[in-house]
Amino acid sequence: MAMLKMEDWYDLARETNWTPSYVTEDELYPEPMAKTFGIPIEEWEKFDEPYKMSYRDYVKMQRDKDIGAYSVKAALSRSNFFEKASPHWKALLALHFSVVCWAEFHSASSFARQTRFGRSPGMRNMATFGTLDEMRHGQIQMFFAYEFLKHDAVFDWCHKSSKTENWIPISLRHALDDIAHTRDAASSAIMLTMGLEAPFTNLQFVALSADAAKCGDHSFATMLQSIQTDEARHAQIGEPVLRIMIANGQKEEAQRLVEIAFWRMWKQFSVLSGIGMDYYTPLEHREGSLKEFMEEWVIGQFGRTVTSVGLDLPWYWDILHEDISTFHHAQQLGVYVYRALQWWRPIACVSPAERDWLEEKYPGWNDTYGKCWDVVIENIKNGDFEKTVPKMPPLICNMCGLEVAGGAGNQWKPVNYNLDLEGRRYHFCSSVCKWIFEEEPDRYKGHRSIIDRILDGTVPTGPDGIFDYMGQSEPERGVDGYDYQWINGYETSSEAAE
Ligand code: MN
Ligand code: MN
Repeated sequence: MAMLKMEDWYDLARETNWTPSYVTEDELYPEPMAKTFGIPIEEWEKFDEPYKMSYRDYVKMQRDKDIGAYSVKAALSRSNFFEKASPHWKALLALHFSVVCWAEFHSASSFARQTRFGRSPGMRNMATFGTLDEMRHGQIQMFFAYEFLKHDAVFDWCHKSSKTENWIPISLRHALDDIAHTRDAASSAIMLTMGLEAPFTNLQFVALSADAAKCGDHSFATMLQSIQTDEARHAQIGEPVLRIMIANGQKEEAQRLVEIAFWRMWKQFSVLSGIGMDYYTPLEHREGSLKEFMEEWVIGQFGRTVTSVGLDLPWYWDILHEDISTFHHAQQLGVYVYRALQWWRPIACVSPAERDWLEEKYPGWNDTYGKCWDVVIENIKNGDFEKTVPKMPPLICNMCGLEVAGGAGNQWKPVNYNLDLEGRRYHFCSSVCKWIFEEEPDRYKGHRSIIDRILDGTVPTGPDGIFDYMGQSEPERGVDGYDYQWINGYETSSEAAE
């Protein structure tokens, strides 16, 4: 029997906004989950998928992708790549897998929400495939990560980290819960695709894949590419939703959702991709700096997407321009000096040659963040290891959950963004994180950062209190990945004076 071509049946099969007979429309689509923004259903039905696909074609395509990625892994599994990899690459793999695997798996829940409660049939179709995509991303990454478990117990954290109260998962969960898991279907669709996937997954999956291939980690590179092709497809849900919102008088709300989600994800990726690209990737394999990728792919390409769809550039675009050269350098310092609070083995990545690269990519680096590293290096050289770990806990932003850090060294610039509400003071890393809080204080005011939990007694006292609370037994507390050998090549100031 001859089969119909997809274009002959697709539009008819898409008409699934049926009239319910057993329940009311409101019961089927409760407002908190299926908010319409006052836009009539006929308008939502105009959603036209930029990428149309049948389930049969989807399964075939995904099966081929899996075969590709798993067979590269199988062919290379005996090459002992991991055992020969440098502490640089091991730290990068540990960081990537232990925050990305579960975040991907959780995304399936956000797409399932869009599938069940989206008002546009076309959006529901695309989100169904998005749900399946994200399950695959969670599973394939967990499988690839667990290959290394026999070499290194740190990969236990690829799954475990999401279940702990370690400060990094708290920060990431807070951001993802906000944009993807606690809002109505249309808002989640806009925030997840236009705040995370369209602007940022390229950084971690395309740029890192290029670095991985240069490093000889071909199975990681192939896996990352196979994921990014899914991201590029399902991220296209966002644009038609935005166009419907804008055409029906909801531009202001759409703009606000994109601005909140984009900033929240920028803060997360600045740490994940920023440390990954500018520090953990071995010098000889670096493709470009975070700043370069951000300027080209995010500020440039994503910026053009935002304006072409009919929105304005976010109000904080100038602040972002500055932030791409600063924030992640401060975070890398924090991750290294508070290394026991990380589950992997953090590395400094500021050898003389690496500093030259940083200075070239970020003119003034030596005069600012380099000044802080000078102190760390001097202390290590003198054997004062305990002085390389600050006595005081850092101030944590009550929005992004990351360290509050300003300009350092000779360009000292303190940060002071706070707000008093109902007898409590909230601190922020930036005017943008503060603005997000002020947009919906009731949504955010109940959250307690890890520092709030230390101060209010939630975290047990005693030397192991914070580690017990964060799920870190003694071998799960970060130590210098190079055992301080990276400072070879530096002279102490007394040697230099001789
Ligand atoms: Mn994904
Ligand atoms: Mn995705």
